[in-house]
Amino acid sequence: MIKLLFKMSALVVMLFLMNMPAFARLNIVTLIYPQYDVVKHIVKDKADVAMLLKPGMEVHTFEPVPGDIEKILGCDLFIYTGSEHDEWVEELLSSQGKKVKTLILTETMPKLYEEEMVEGMTAEEVEDEDESNSSRGPEFDEHIWTSPRRDIQMIELFCEKLAALDPENAEFFRANARDYAARFTALDKDLRDLIGKSERKTIIMADRFPFLYLAKDYGLDYFAAFKGCAAESEASASTVAFLISKTRELKVPAVLTVEFSNEKIGRTIAAETGVKVLTLNSCHNVSPEQFKSQLSMAELMRANLEVLKEVLN
Ligand SMILES: [Zn+2]
Repeated sequence: MIKLLFKMSALVVMLFLMNMPAFARLNIVTLIYPQYDVVKHIVKDKADVAMLLKPGMEVHTFEPVPGDIEKILGCDLFIYTGSEHDEWVEELLSSQGKKVKTLILTETMPKLYEEEMVEGMTAEEVEDEDESNSSRGPEFDEHIWTSPRRDIQMIELFCEKLAALDPENAEFFRANARDYAARFTALDKDLRDLIGKSERKTIIMADRFPFLYLAKDYGLDYFAAFKGCAAESEASASTVAFLISKTRELKVPAVLTVEFSNEKIGRTIAAETGVKVLTLNSCHNVSPEQFKSQLSMAELMRANLEVLKEVLN
């Protein structure tokens, strides 16, 4: 009888310990790939990490399904970009009584760049009157992660937030964060070296331009068909003509497109001028195959560096 009581009390203690917060596994939900990739490299197998955007899916038209909302409401931390496309998150969270911990990239990063129109771009059509009369301030570009220098900051920021939520694993997280940040430190140096010694410092993007942070942080000039992640995919005839003449004038060996693009503008310019069309990864998302093989953002950016070598030399 005493033995049985002892066994039962041991079981009770065990169940109690299993439910203690210190033993709880963190459950992190991210919206898009760069956030997922960074968190995954920090926590490795010591937390659950989900990405709401399905691999291969277009990010700017993302709409949450009921399962996504459940994931957000049940997680320990929800990380998202905080761009104009993410307004649904604020609406969702304010409509719920439950308080969800969030990390909003654009609110935690210092020195954001404003979206800009450069010569030759096709302007975005304003969809409704409300938007054109909007009293909102300037639109900030949200593609912070395209600059390796900012990725180093992003890794540190995410790491400290995760360490505070799970102090038991804090040192493990910090060691992993240092390892991953080192890859971006190397990229940062290689990019500065490349652009520093290149005579040509201009790239021609026959597409949208989600690379403002890469360009501005590293001293690259650019021409592009559209700014940021404009929903437009039809460039005006004058934009195409402008990019063709710049391609000839600057004697670039290739024009660039973004991954998952239909490459229509790029192919038109290539047919006119004979240059190549190469892809620069904006890393919003990866394909299902790349996701399965755990291709990292650091590797995608290494590939970008090789493309830039070819274009700038
Ligand atoms: Zn975008």
